[in-house]
Amino acid sequence: MLARRIAFFSFLVLVVGLGAPGPLAQSQPSQEGSSEDPSWTWPESRWRDAVEKVRSGRRLLPESWPDGAKVAVTLSFDFDNETLSLRNGDTSPSRLSTGEYGSRAALPRVLALLERYDIPATFFIPGVSAKLYPDDVKRIAAAGHELGIHGWIHEWTSSLERDDERMLMERSLDTLEELGGRRPVGIRTGSWEYSPNTADLIEELGLLYDSSLMADDVPYEVLNEGRPTGVVELPVEWILDDYPYFGMNRFSSTRPYTPPSDVYEVWAAEFDMAYEEGGMLLLTLHPHIIGHRSRIVMLERLIQYMRSHPGVWFGTHEQVARHAKEHG
Ligand SMILES: [Zn+2]
Repeated sequence: MLARRIAFFSFLVLVVGLGAPGPLAQSQPSQEGSSEDPSWTWPESRWRDAVEKVRSGRRLLPESWPDGAKVAVTLSFDFDNETLSLRNGDTSPSRLSTGEYGSRAALPRVLALLERYDIPATFFIPGVSAKLYPDDVKRIAAAGHELGIHGWIHEWTSSLERDDERMLMERSLDTLEELGGRRPVGIRTGSWEYSPNTADLIEELGLLYDSSLMADDVPYEVLNEGRPTGVVELPVEWILDDYPYFGMNRFSSTRPYTPPSDVYEVWAAEFDMAYEEGGMLLLTLHPHIIGHRSRIVMLERLIQYMRSHPGVWFGTHEQVARHAKEHG
């Protein structure tokens, strides 16, 4: 019975993804795509069209970064808090409290760290999280950090209809503009999911950059069905994200198994090669994950390590995107 129960929960967790299990308010993206036909039966036109839908265009790698720097380091903090539970309709007070930690205990540590090293960062904030913590959003903006949109309630973008997706993007832009005093120019979709319309909508809304795709280590221009869009992609990567190392889901094998020192080793090695190649290092962090005591000290150690090199420039995602677009 126990084994069957565990198997059921494992299935549920697989379906729910990174969020904690709960009633499914919105259908989840499938791992294998939605097609009924097995992909080995597809004609060439079909797999080619799928691949060409959203693609990487020219690299936007400048000769040097601002101040003649060799490498750009850009940190983002996804201020998700309770939305990771709420998007799945999960209202468990216990699981919601792990999101609340992001505002209450973690954000002050994150902001103090950034201030200590004079590092401007980018905060991607779901609209609902902004509404729950308006004072935090104002504090983040007042400290000179950038605000970027990150869904309304961290919904699964890939299962949205076009009109709903556009409406939620606009609502998120309005909410952050109202609180931060400036209309955001960048987007990171929730869990880096894309619908068939996401690339169109990013263009339609005139955004400068996206940070949800993974085709390179350095900025590039997004191609929409082969057409250059002018939209800058600041690529992300799971190994450069704190969640896979430290995320916790009690009903799955997702457990914070990784010692912070191991994560330091990976990220420092990523930085070393970015430095050597003259590229960019982008880290995706979450206050409620990285803000724990044992982890924030690791992040500080990493910042000190990067700072010990000459020619390292720290900028917001917007600054990186503008510089890459102009000089790349
Ligand atoms: Zn997120």
